[in-house]
Amino acid sequence: MSSEPASHTIRLPVEVVVGEDVAQSAGSTISRHLEAKNIVVLTGQNSLTHHAQGVLNNLKEVGYIARTEVVTSSSVAEANRVLSAGYAFGAVVGLGGGKVLDVGKVVAHHRRVPFISIPTSASHDGIASPQASLIGLNGAHSMRVEMPYIIIADSKLIADSPLELTLSGVGDVLAKFSSVLDSKLAQQEGEYVGEYSISLAEMSAKLVFSNLESIVQLSKSGIRALLEALISNGIAMAIAGSSRPCSGSEHMFGHALNMLMPGKVLHGYGVLLGTKISLALHGADWRGVFEKVEAAGLPVSAKSLGVPPVFVERSLVFAHKIRPERRTVLSKGLTLVKARQILDEVKAY
Ligand SMILES: [Zn+2]
Repeated sequence: MSSEPASHTIRLPVEVVVGEDVAQSAGSTISRHLEAKNIVVLTGQNSLTHHAQGVLNNLKEVGYIARTEVVTSSSVAEANRVLSAGYAFGAVVGLGGGKVLDVGKVVAHHRRVPFISIPTSASHDGIASPQASLIGLNGAHSMRVEMPYIIIADSKLIADSPLELTLSGVGDVLAKFSSVLDSKLAQQEGEYVGEYSISLAEMSAKLVFSNLESIVQLSKSGIRALLEALISNGIAMAIAGSSRPCSGSEHMFGHALNMLMPGKVLHGYGVLLGTKISLALHGADWRGVFEKVEAAGLPVSAKSLGVPPVFVERSLVFAHKIRPERRTVLSKGLTLVKARQILDEVKAY
């Protein structure tokens, strides 16, 4: 039997907008909910050149005073640089990719002001989650922050972003096939994980899986399906009060791979390979999922990711140490012999 907590707070975004060109009217959207006049807009160099002007113009039109900061890395040092900039702001807008959004979430968290997420790529579910990953978090791979107050997901920006970033987002959603199995395993062993959050994560993976072709072709409906799935995963984490339903053994494998080869493999690609391995360890039908995923053009082996075999072996053997308190199918760890056997079985090399 699982022990249900006595109380449980769920904080959700006040508004989520998904659609074409919605970033251009970000100021109008924000002004419906936010009285603060001073806003800091964090962005990347590429977004500053290509996307920021329309957003900044609209913020100005509706009366905001917006300062712009260019984020160059997703590190604690970068968040501290913005925090010590010496001017006041009542909200943080993150306009950019994962790096920018992570720094923005942490800056907003420390200043206790709302965070507005305007992703320019859909590479992982951080676009809508109450988690942030920064380099320099004392060994932790992510920290708990507030749920974005407003999410403005512009499908045109996503369609214009590099295809591999969108495919990485697909990988991060499909990873829920495995993370929900780990969540159910933990439930059986007494951990409280809300049913609703598990169902939401599972539904996102199923929807992206059934819309795989249209997403890979970057059709309007496909991109919208991906964005909605990524946002649903963020909401599943908000409901669960942790990343639990969306991050299991496949994420530990992905994080281990990233530790061994920092920045070499996109987050969604690493966890997707982890998903194939974890599904097999759970005794689930990994072939049924991965035949279609591979046919859609996603990388599902070390070779297709350009990762030497020894790194996938080491990542799999090390993965359970990433988050030892989180019960998953990998919790007891694998010997090198067993790791090689499973990697062979799922054609992960
Ligand atoms: Zn993820």
